[in-house]
Amino acid sequence: MKDPIMPHPLPANSANAIDLRSDTVTRPSPGMMAAMASAPLGDDVFGDDPTVNALQAEAAEMAGKEAGLFFPSGTQSNLAGLMAHCGRGDEYIVGQQAHTYRYEGGGAAVLGSIQPQPIENAPDGTLPLEKIEAAIKPIGVNFARTRLLALENTIAGQVLPAGYTQRAEAIARKAGLAFHLDGARAWNAAVASGQTLAEICQPFDSVSLCLSKGLGTPVGSVLVGARPVIESARRWRKVLGGGMRQVGVLAAAGRYAIQHNIARLAEDHSNAALLAKSLTGLLGAGAVRYTGTNMVFVNPVPGLSFQDLGAFLQARNILVEGGSGLRLVTHLDVSTYQINQVVEAIGMFLADAGRAASSAA
Ligand SMILES: *Cc1c(COP(=O)(O)O)cnc(C)c1O
Repeated sequence: MKDPIMPHPLPANSANAIDLRSDTVTRPSPGMMAAMASAPLGDDVFGDDPTVNALQAEAAEMAGKEAGLFFPSGTQSNLAGLMAHCGRGDEYIVGQQAHTYRYEGGGAAVLGSIQPQPIENAPDGTLPLEKIEAAIKPIGVNFARTRLLALENTIAGQVLPAGYTQRAEAIARKAGLAFHLDGARAWNAAVASGQTLAEICQPFDSVSLCLSKGLGTPVGSVLVGARPVIESARRWRKVLGGGMRQVGVLAAAGRYAIQHNIARLAEDHSNAALLAKSLTGLLGAGAVRYTGTNMVFVNPVPGLSFQDLGAFLQARNILVEGGSGLRLVTHLDVSTYQINQVVEAIGMFLADAGRAASSAA
């Protein structure tokens, strides 16, 4: 889990660090920079930017939706999506651990006048179906109007189990709720599960897709959905300050990423699996959890301080985000060779710590 209060100070040469804090830390590649530099541009608030229009059409097509809309961030894309479905006094059902609820500053409530109804996520990231059903409010003067169910895939690196979203959809449809997916890492879910992006997105009315996570762009998300939803979101995007002008310069990075950086997500997943396997060898099976995509979690280990480990690694130009547990994220700027370097460094730390403990005893 991210610690939003205490970001790590960066070493002077952070550009060359092995950075496992998140998949948001990637730098645009030379090919991506070249695509950005040569993109045809126009004023996107007028709908005139050909590169933005192409990206939106490509993302919508891949997701099997009618239309797409480019956003500066996933936070804004999710929020505009929620606002397209819900009005003042409406409510959305969402996971306690969901990004839209927990890590987006409460924007749905603050800016959208939408009441969140959080539900505790099960360990596999799902919202238990009976809890969803129980949370849907009756219609009446006493109640907020339940309007939307929002899921996240992947969630904490886990792909939602096969068939789950269809069962959740059936509940949403029966109650007349709209259905939104925070698909910040939906491409990871697709690659890991062997489904197409369209299959992952099929049950949902709107999906927010991040280009700046595993796909490696500096900026950008695309909201996809049916045309009326996207047209409503376009108005909210303007209200939220996300109407940008010659922004094809950024959309070009997204088009490049869609062409070059999706299939290779499998490398991030195999690097994460390798990391998990090696760390299990060092720490024992109970300590390490591999999510199936590009994240590895290390549980608290008696006598092991993740703060001390983080400082030890940082001195070796390896960046991790350690709180009560440790989340390690692989991405296109981390190679298999570097994963082995990280394992070696963690092994050194554990050996040092073991020596310190035995000499103290
Ligand atoms: C990163 C992320 C977002 C959007 O974040 P931005 O930093 O605003 O682009 C949304 N949902 C999830 C699950 C994310 O990981």
